Amino acid sequence: PEDEAEQRYAAELQTADGAEIGLSINVNDLSDLISIDREGIEGIGLLRTEFLMSSASDMVNEERQYGIYRQVLEWAGQKPVTIRMLDLGGDKQFHDSGEREGGSFLGLRGIRLLLARPEILRIQARALLRSATHGNLKVMLPMVTLPSELEKTVRIFREESTLLERRRVDYRMPPIGIMVEVPATALMLDTFGAADFFSFGTNDLAQYLTAAARDNAVVADIYAHAAPAIFRLLEHTVHIAATLGTPVSICGDMAGEQEYIPALLGCGLRHFSLAPAQLAVIRLRIMQLNADGTMAVEK
Ligand code: PEP
Ligand code: MG
Repeated sequence: PEDEAEQRYAAELQTADGAEIGLSINVNDLSDLISIDREGIEGIGLLRTEFLMSSASDMVNEERQYGIYRQVLEWAGQKPVTIRMLDLGGDKQFHDSGEREGGSFLGLRGIRLLLARPEILRIQARALLRSATHGNLKVMLPMVTLPSELEKTVRIFREESTLLERRRVDYRMPPIGIMVEVPATALMLDTFGAADFFSFGTNDLAQYLTAAARDNAVVADIYAHAAPAIFRLLEHTVHIAATLGTPVSICGDMAGEQEYIPALLGCGLRHFSLAPAQLAVIRLRIMQLNADGTMAVEK
């Protein structure tokens, strides 16, 4: 049937000159999944767990989290689902503390905050380890700046899996990768050989490269001009990832903006994760371009 042909076509996306491209979706809300045609995507490239928790108590509720992650993995079948650990701090406040411990983009944020509050990290790690038995899970760490942050987190996952083993609870150790959203991380990517994958968070990379906060209207104009600096950094960083042999993708909002697709292809990127609403436009754009980002000549 016509429908099926259309779906196959959508899942097997290529540039005009035949390079394979993967399109995944960013998910902030489980209700987003209702209207998604699963066959048309590679998988979920970014699930922002901080938006799935309706209260601070969810963050310390292993069963609740396990239920949510399992539901998403079952929805995806065998397609990869990249679940990002809680990215609190910065613009997303840490609800249960009266202190502003995470209130700054340059302070305790993402993995820094989780490592400072390991009880929260351990609960999420257990929920993820258990849910991994229900699908193709990958775990992604936000705001990683130093290789030691990745090492400490992996160690905690190992410790929690030992604990589950002792309790005779089913689990699976998922691949663990990192967001590349701090400039130092991008420049030093060769020191992150322990990561199973990389994903560029250009929303944060832009603010840290330009020293212009992403949520400050006064400097929005400066933030908006970050693209050339990002492309220069991405090109360099994609090469490093290739020498490590580590898969790389992009999940920042740039991946959903068609004007940036030529440059992103030109940087060597082949996997894009974007808001579901942008899928159709980006798919079409990619089919019109060559793998180097140049416009394909119509035959
Ligand atoms: C990013 O920083 O580009 C990103 C994808 O993460 P978030 O927007 O959630 O910070
Ligand atoms: Mg980010």
